[in-house]
Amino acid sequence: DCVVYWMRMEDMRIEDNTALYKASEKAVELGIPLIALFVLSPGDYKIHDRSNKKIDFTLRNLRCLKTKLHELNIPLHIVSYDRRLQIPRRIIKEVLPSLGSNHFFANIEYEVDELRRDIATVNLGRDNGIDVQCLHDRLIVPPGKVLSQKGKPISVFSPWQRAWAKLLDQQPKYFDMSPTPKSNDQSIKSDEKFSTLFDDKIPDSLEGFECPESDKLKELWPEGTDRAKEVLNRFFHTKPRKDQFHFVSPLTPGAEESEKESRIAQYQTGRNLVDGDNSSKISPYLASGVISGRMVLNEAKKMKKGKLESGRDTGMGMWVQEVSWRDFYNHVMATWPRVSMGRPFLEKFADVQWETNEDHLQAWKDGKTGFPIIDAAMRACKARGWMENRVRMVAASFLVKGLMLDWRLGEKYFMESFVDGDLAANNGGWQWTASTGTDPQPFFRIFNTLTQSEKCDPTGAYIRYWVPELKNLKGKAIHDPYHQMPRTEFKKLGYPEPIIDHKTSRERALFRYKNVGEKE
Ligand code: FAD
Repeated sequence: DCVVYWMRMEDMRIEDNTALYKASEKAVELGIPLIALFVLSPGDYKIHDRSNKKIDFTLRNLRCLKTKLHELNIPLHIVSYDRRLQIPRRIIKEVLPSLGSNHFFANIEYEVDELRRDIATVNLGRDNGIDVQCLHDRLIVPPGKVLSQKGKPISVFSPWQRAWAKLLDQQPKYFDMSPTPKSNDQSIKSDEKFSTLFDDKIPDSLEGFECPESDKLKELWPEGTDRAKEVLNRFFHTKPRKDQFHFVSPLTPGAEESEKESRIAQYQTGRNLVDGDNSSKISPYLASGVISGRMVLNEAKKMKKGKLESGRDTGMGMWVQEVSWRDFYNHVMATWPRVSMGRPFLEKFADVQWETNEDHLQAWKDGKTGFPIIDAAMRACKARGWMENRVRMVAASFLVKGLMLDWRLGEKYFMESFVDGDLAANNGGWQWTASTGTDPQPFFRIFNTLTQSEKCDPTGAYIRYWVPELKNLKGKAIHDPYHQMPRTEFKKLGYPEPIIDHKTSRERALFRYKNVGEKE
């Protein structure tokens, strides 16, 4: 007999991992081995638009975890099933009986397909005499807990956030999880006994997700919980540097210690500036669960001698609020599952009339729109698998309200590109931009790409780095070369002309949203 913990793609850590901890407790209580299981399902990853960069990050973290789990006498076994619909049956009917296991633990995933799979696993387990426990772990406050005074789910962020923050104060138990699972020295024997069942070599890459830039990404986003903690420490304790916004790891040496001028202390203004290395860059680690939201807040609390700031008055308070967006969008997804089925939260916007224009879509993806800030952001996305929040919003708005292309095309492309791809956050960001989401940007508020560019890249350093055709431009021309330069000079740059006119596209978007459901 043994206990099995199913490690998911979003819980790639040992510390503060609810299902692993509970599984370990059970194994110790019964005096039987604990086995960790990881299911590779490339078919699933394709259907869910996982990027090769995220798969590469997952495989690197898995290798790191295998060693660490081994040190705790917990073998990590890998099985590969291409089609997700098979997974509950294969696990309950084949894997667990062949291990002689009646105890199965996993952390819940809130995306609708995954939730259905978990429900099927629990039901099959019950029918076959296996104790299947699917537990809340991903978020700081689990879905279903943040309610209005009338006991209803809240879809508007500000009241939701106030209710969420109160739960943190009143229920410190969310932070009190004992970090390390108990080791089980019997489990080591299971390695030999069961190894024939599994293919235990963690592959270097998966077919269809090959990642030629893996070495570069390893430098940029190093794997492992220890590295994630260093990334956080750098954000809490060091000064931002103007020259460090581009292709550098959040762990690049040379970061200057400073509490007063630390990245977090300057976050209120810094978070919107992309010409400096200002935000935490913790998103890939949070999205893969290499570090948990609870651990992140615990670290922040330690910095403030046990008191967690929340609210817009301080850098820390503002940052905690940003971290809570991750919980918010996951709560939205768990409460209104239609958002993870490609449907708008505000159903009245289901019939906005979109353009079909492959050339525009491709120009946006390739960073060749003739709008420097968009092109810089999209090229950065391709190279790093990551973008700063402000340029995610500006690039998304350009696709939806500038090019009038369906937001779902952009949502899919971001997922296929990001190392931090997360359905809830990505969908939330896109639906906010497209004015279709919970508490969205109203449809008549349309970002002006040029103004946004001047505000978020005031020195132009971001554009100069990512769009080398423009590296010698100064002043306003960096943001709008086509209109600011003589045509003959512009032509020499080898940079594309703007693919749309801002004013007419703005009017088109306003008309289409106002007259939703009607044809022009
Ligand atoms: P910081 O500013 O340091 O914030 C700390 C953490 O808070 C982030 O790591 C993230 O976990 C969370 N967070 C901050 N802002 C948000 C937000 N608006 N929504 C949800 N969580 C937030 N974030 C992802 O993790 N994965 C995605 O796939 C993703 N797609 C997005 C798509 C669009 C169109 C937009 C507008 C935003 C998207 N975001 C996504 C949210 C946000 O842009 C990133 O979390 C942030 O840029 C990551 O950088 P950071 O870690 O330095 O953030």
